Amino acid sequence: MRYLSKGRLHAVFEFGDLTVVPLRDGYVDMPPTRLRDEHGGPLAELPGTVPLIDGNLRLSVNAFFVSDGARSVLIDTGASNAWHSTMGSLLDALDEAGIGRADITDVALTHHHEDHVSGLIAPDGTEAFPSLQRVWTGADDTSVFRGRLAPVRDRVVPVTGRVAVNARITAVPTPGHTPGHTVYDVRSTTGRLFVWGDTVHVPSLQFARPRTSWELDSDQPQARRARLALLEQLTEPHHYVAGAHLDFPGVGHVTRDGDGYTLEYLAPPTP
Ligand SMILES: [Zn+2]
Repeated sequence: MRYLSKGRLHAVFEFGDLTVVPLRDGYVDMPPTRLRDEHGGPLAELPGTVPLIDGNLRLSVNAFFVSDGARSVLIDTGASNAWHSTMGSLLDALDEAGIGRADITDVALTHHHEDHVSGLIAPDGTEAFPSLQRVWTGADDTSVFRGRLAPVRDRVVPVTGRVAVNARITAVPTPGHTPGHTVYDVRSTTGRLFVWGDTVHVPSLQFARPRTSWELDSDQPQARRARLALLEQLTEPHHYVAGAHLDFPGVGHVTRDGDGYTLEYLAPPTP
């Protein structure tokens, strides 16, 4: 995986015969009380190494475009205008990256939360991707396709087990953060990239202390097990991670470090 360039809202990585383009939708600030210890209680103390901005954790909100030149998939879509105004830059990020909205036929969602799904609909209420053919989503997260998202419901492909999105990308159910949370396993000629959605919310803490959970995980013990298993798998050679809430552009390599892990970003990170 080779970092090529970065703009304000996008970056470009060469990944063997694939191109990976992280796209910045924005960020969201959350109180550190969202962090939970291994028993589900509040953290006794927040390590000083965890940066706070006006008392809050700042979570970058990222989506990822993966292409082999012929077939491409957009993984997650940002919040559009459905949540806080610090998000909603995905369409500008695609413009900056030179990716046409009409070129996107396949969207793969990691889960049903607003900062991942709402970008299917543009702020003016129209579909963001006029050539959309398929929306891959964990089957247990598909109830979100009503109201604002009802227009795309006829193209939802519910994922119930490991399933090929295309020749290079496999959807892997990883319930815990939500019942239908799904990781996308991307294989290139030079390695594997796990686009892991909300497996980690606070990279400055949860790599070193992977048992620390997030209050909004619908099943914290299940989310913790999924996180530990993925982190361990990511220590293998030529394995990389791309995370929705890792510091932008959110792509890195994981190594083991005592009881925990270390994330080495492949490009200079911005929270
Ligand atoms: Zn999220």
